[in-house]
Amino acid sequence: MSNVGALYHRLLLDHGKSPRNFGPLPGASHHAQRDNPLCGDQFTVHVKVSGDLIVDAGFEGAGCAISMASASMMTASIKGMTSAQAEDLSDRFDRMVSTPPGDIVVRGELGELAAFAGVAEFPVRVECARLPWRALAAALAPPGDRAK
Ligand code: ZN
Repeated sequence: MSNVGALYHRLLLDHGKSPRNFGPLPGASHHAQRDNPLCGDQFTVHVKVSGDLIVDAGFEGAGCAISMASASMMTASIKGMTSAQAEDLSDRFDRMVSTPPGDIVVRGELGELAAFAGVAEFPVRVECARLPWRALAAALAPPGDRAK
């Protein structure tokens, strides 16, 4: 494993074991729950939006280490972003984890989230990594679209 690979591996383990932003989010304005029946992961993502800015984010639920780490890093990454920026980040993340061995160009733009590039090699795990992002998209969607 390369040094970068080892660093990413440690990051994933760390976030998987000690997730950030885990728990209820007082004053949250948007919520959505999504589950991944293939693995048994189930998360509710909470966001507090003020104007168009995501001022805070958190999540609750249970899942494997990959989905836990993804939710932890996602909530940390989107704080301070506009919903449009968060959607853009979500698209890039999707592209990276669904393009083995991780879209190299996109990887450079993702910061710590690039730790998930290796997930692209394990199709079963891709849905685990994407789950929190799907919940986020549902939470931020206009009320009429939330059922999707
Ligand atoms: Zn999982």
